Amino acid sequence: SATLVMFACNPKPQVAPVIDKDPAIERKVEDLLSKMTLDEKIGQMTQLSIDVMWDREARRAGTFKFDEAILDSVIVKYKVGSILNIPGVAQTPERWNEIISVLQQKSIDATGIPCLYGLDQNHGASYTMGAIMFPQPINMAASFNRDLVHEAAVITAYETRASSVPWTFNPTLDLGRDPRWSRLWENYGEDAFVNAEMGRVATLGMQGKDPNHVGRENIAVCVKHYMGYGVPVSGKDRTPAIISPSDLRDKHFAPYLASIQAGALSIMVNSGSVNGVPVHANYQLLTQWLKEELNWDGLIVTDWADINNLFNREKVAANKKEAIKMAINAGIDMSMDPYSWDFCVLLKELVEEGQVSMERIDDAARRVLRLKFRLGLFEESLHDPKSYPLFGSTEHYNVAVKAAEESMILLKNKDNILPLTKGTKILVTGPNANSMRTLNGGWTYTWQGERTDIFTGEYNTLLEGLAAKFGAGNIIYEPGVTYKDGANWWEENTPEIDKAVSAAAKADVIVVCVGENSYCETPGNLTDLTMSANQRELVKALAKTGKPIVLVLNQGRPRIIKDIEPLASAIVYTLLPGNAGGDAFANLISGEANFSGKLPFTYPLEVNSLTTYDYKVSEESDTMEGAYNYNASRSLQWPFGYGLSYTTFRYGDLKVNKENFTADDELVFEVEVTNTGKVKGKEAVLLYSTDLVASIVPDARRLRAFEKVELEPGQTRTVKLALKGKDLAFVGFDGKWILEEGDFEINVGDKKLTLRCTKTKKWDTPNR
Ligand code: BGC
Repeated sequence: SATLVMFACNPKPQVAPVIDKDPAIERKVEDLLSKMTLDEKIGQMTQLSIDVMWDREARRAGTFKFDEAILDSVIVKYKVGSILNIPGVAQTPERWNEIISVLQQKSIDATGIPCLYGLDQNHGASYTMGAIMFPQPINMAASFNRDLVHEAAVITAYETRASSVPWTFNPTLDLGRDPRWSRLWENYGEDAFVNAEMGRVATLGMQGKDPNHVGRENIAVCVKHYMGYGVPVSGKDRTPAIISPSDLRDKHFAPYLASIQAGALSIMVNSGSVNGVPVHANYQLLTQWLKEELNWDGLIVTDWADINNLFNREKVAANKKEAIKMAINAGIDMSMDPYSWDFCVLLKELVEEGQVSMERIDDAARRVLRLKFRLGLFEESLHDPKSYPLFGSTEHYNVAVKAAEESMILLKNKDNILPLTKGTKILVTGPNANSMRTLNGGWTYTWQGERTDIFTGEYNTLLEGLAAKFGAGNIIYEPGVTYKDGANWWEENTPEIDKAVSAAAKADVIVVCVGENSYCETPGNLTDLTMSANQRELVKALAKTGKPIVLVLNQGRPRIIKDIEPLASAIVYTLLPGNAGGDAFANLISGEANFSGKLPFTYPLEVNSLTTYDYKVSEESDTMEGAYNYNASRSLQWPFGYGLSYTTFRYGDLKVNKENFTADDELVFEVEVTNTGKVKGKEAVLLYSTDLVASIVPDARRLRAFEKVELEPGQTRTVKLALKGKDLAFVGFDGKWILEEGDFEINVGDKKLTLRCTKTKKWDTPNR
């Protein structure tokens, strides 16, 4: 059997539902379900890509036209209840409405049930032209600002619903714990708590507070990719992960739990396998952990063609029919089978043969219908874009600028070379200097974000932002290295480094913008984490001019730069700040805004030292008696949580309301933070705990709380950070949470104190 049982199975517990049901909706669901045929129920469990129904000629011409015969086959014959994806490239809200109105009309005529349309709105309504493209999630994490994440989520939902799209495959809450992984930037970094917190507020922002009644300015979330997707052993996308049972339950599960507790209405499954079992066939993770232990009534959808992958790639099923049986019986409710509808035919056979129970089909169809009712689709499935007047507005854009400013990270500022003063002559160079594509990354207007022709000229690149701020006459532009258009994302043209070096003669300072071009998912896989040789050569040649270098890293994952880091006077990590990136960058470089971003992941120094901040060997235990240096495994370029500012902050003594505690106690920590510099600034205050002795090897540190505060020069504020005693627990070898008697060290800034847990407590329900 493909059921992975890592811990003893619990009997079906009768726990309170994590989302309270609305009895009126439940009645409507039951009433409808009772009248539906098996074909109709299976249709509701099926999701296809719009691609498959799109007239090929029209697609090539970029026009709007369904292939009527295929459309009828999908919606009328097979009664497919859900569609995803885009016809080629992003569309305007008006065009989206035309497309969706065709689908809604067909669906309602065929079954009386509206269609559930889903899109990947990764950093704003990314598939809608004119929508605000926010910084990517990795930036939002670097801001350590929950309010900004919430605001961006509210706007994303509004701008998505303006296109009559009610559902997004977001937020992405994989822990990006391997810097080689091509999807690191799609989620909130390496830490479980940051992902949990940002996922929670993003869920609330997109869905609103009442999951039973998702308003017309809100959309349903689909939290992904449940779970363990972010730690492929090979570092390559969609390859197997091996995760300790403790880490899986304690860290990887945490963000999903937080998001579900905030009302998340659907979940998408990790495409790959964890500990040898494809998650799409894992009864324990899908049914037991979500549907039974949490009594969660949401929808579980597969990732792209992943039922097929059970036989094609993972080899746990001999054919498609067997794969469908495995997945549906493990707890999948909807199959994203983008290009074929034989799922409908084969699932029907399985039911008729008694291999999949009618009870399971009803459970799945019920979950789909419930979501459609909760979204109000039966009352209003189309929305007039004109009734969303703030779509793409300046008001919305300003939030993106703020988010981009707060998410860029100042990693180095020797002799306070930044901010640059007005009148400075700047050479702007590097392949990322003049590209909207690199500022945005993947999931922008298209999957790979590669269609530079549809990036509008309304937004500033880094170069344009600097020119607008410092005056075009003070800017010299010579890229030195450029990416090859229409090629693989990593390919570069023959470098022209000499030209950039000559141009440096006329400049006071060199801003060299390097990093990566846009990519997404598996095509973004790497063979070497080191930054491109041409780009490093460019920096080395420029350094020889003796002019000070501001190194700008515009990349979604950390690329190894240990040979060029010492050559830079200042280093700014923009990550992937979106369309507002150029403006935000110029505001920061000129000192009109201050840096406050901090690294949400560990930046490695060496390709063979890829550890996370909570890595089991603690920083203090760096040498083994007599010989080895354990810290070599940690070789850091910059640690998790690192980031400078134009001002400085002093931390006063750390205080706590009680030094002895048990699981249910509330611990309130207080620390005074003072702005000791000359300019206003924001500081993210991070609180870590260390379990000094534990029954399994304790993590070196765990982030347990954070708050961001703004301080005027000279101002002091008391920052309060509260948590429960049980938040310091971990998952032990038996799969249960345990808070063990003993000492804990708490760190905030450069201050620490020790607390004592006086009573061990164990529990097995995650609904803690
Ligand atoms: C990705 C998902 C995405 C889905 C639909 C898959 O390839 O892994 O993250 O939501 O496609 O576009």
